[in-house]
Amino acid sequence: MIRTDTGVFMDRDGLINVPPPPEDRYILHPDTFKLMPGIAEAIRLLNERNIPVAVVTNQKGVAIGKVSEATLHRIHQRMVELLAAENASVQHIQYCPHREEDQCNCRKPLPGMLIKAAAALNLQTETCWMIGDQPRDLEAGRAAGCRTLLVGSATAPEGLADLHLSHTQQLPHWIKQNFPFQTER
Ligand SMILES: [Mg+2]
Repeated sequence: MIRTDTGVFMDRDGLINVPPPPEDRYILHPDTFKLMPGIAEAIRLLNERNIPVAVVTNQKGVAIGKVSEATLHRIHQRMVELLAAENASVQHIQYCPHREEDQCNCRKPLPGMLIKAAAALNLQTETCWMIGDQPRDLEAGRAAGCRTLLVGSATAPEGLADLHLSHTQQLPHWIKQNFPFQTER
């Protein structure tokens, strides 16, 4: 039996879904949650390879009263439904509801959510990838010991990203090239 402890941690806004408009700063309602091109296929390809996917998302809007936790759960339910419609699923969701000044250990660039998700899914962070659209996602990944993939137009300091793809539409090809099929976990 082949076993793998590999998993993929994914940022939410700007990677899984179209980022919120600048004037809102946060996704405020399930109806405004739209998947990025290629992301459902990417997650489905990981599912087919038995590679667990965990969402790790900063949601400061909860701390500052822009989004209630109940609404955040409905938004995540919408995410799950949109992915399911394309035969894709995430295995774990972690969100950080804090502000910088709350001094939590989960707000990216800190690695707390990745550590928790890895424990929940029984993953070895050293063999996992952290994928995000912002340098702080990669910093969290590095701090957890993961490999790091930057997707999108942002730039990261030298050495922070192991790989950079310019668009989510490139993710399915990258997964096909880099993740073999695993028969069992
Ligand atoms: Mg993001």
